[in-house]
Amino acid sequence: MSKLYIDIGGTYLRSELLNNGKIFKEKVSSHTISLNDYLEDKLKTCPDIRKIGISFAGQTNHGKILSSPNISVSEYNIKKYIEKKYHVSLKIDNDINCALLAEKEYSKAENMALLYIGTGMGAAVLEQGKIVRGESNLAYELGHVPFKKAPFRCGCGKDNCLELFSSGSGLKKWCAYYGLPAMSVEALKHSKDKRAKKIYKNFTKGLLRAAATLVTLANPKVLVLGGGVILSNPYLKEEVEKKIGKYALFSSLEELDLVLSQFKNASMEGAKRL
Ligand SMILES: [Zn+2]
Repeated sequence: MSKLYIDIGGTYLRSELLNNGKIFKEKVSSHTISLNDYLEDKLKTCPDIRKIGISFAGQTNHGKILSSPNISVSEYNIKKYIEKKYHVSLKIDNDINCALLAEKEYSKAENMALLYIGTGMGAAVLEQGKIVRGESNLAYELGHVPFKKAPFRCGCGKDNCLELFSSGSGLKKWCAYYGLPAMSVEALKHSKDKRAKKIYKNFTKGLLRAAATLVTLANPKVLVLGGGVILSNPYLKEEVEKKIGKYALFSSLEELDLVLSQFKNASMEGAKRL
């Protein structure tokens, strides 16, 4: 029996195929193939796959994809479609919830929160050992909480989301808007250009607003910061540590441990735990 794990984001689809004790890893652009076609290709070339776990950078609920602003999807009812056609069991969840599955095993905290900044901004909360999901698995969509008005729109349709200021895709949009080349957080921080300084300032303000809102609403014991943008700029953790007191409820901070994710790819690790 083989098992297939997938982590699909706005830029890449990464997979790990577990076959006879060997792991076959693959990384392809998530723009060149739909998730559905990728799965069918794999199931045809490796017909003994029996279990599939997918971490998906979009909204999902009970095996269905609800929305995927950055990922090409041709079949939204993916669990039903694949399980009907092939002899497999498929589980799919939002990438931050998947990351939480891996992080909770590592941290052992019963109450924890995750704030991930990569292409987008995502959050997830564990309460008394259980993931908080809400009615449609949409709880803690923190990236879409209003922050400031922007001159362009978010994937969700609004123009004032936190994600428009404090995410990799948001930074790209701001650089393009000001006619600047795409710049990293680090480059924006050290730039002498006024526009770059403004983008950086809004990025850190949005990050602090997000972290503080999460801590104030969820009251976690552990707040894990992760995602590509934060992990490639680990000093952002100190920035949050230093300034979160200005934004969060003081008593929520007393017992709080602020940590960086210890995983290179927690979402993929979570897909294995689905
Ligand atoms: Zn939004």
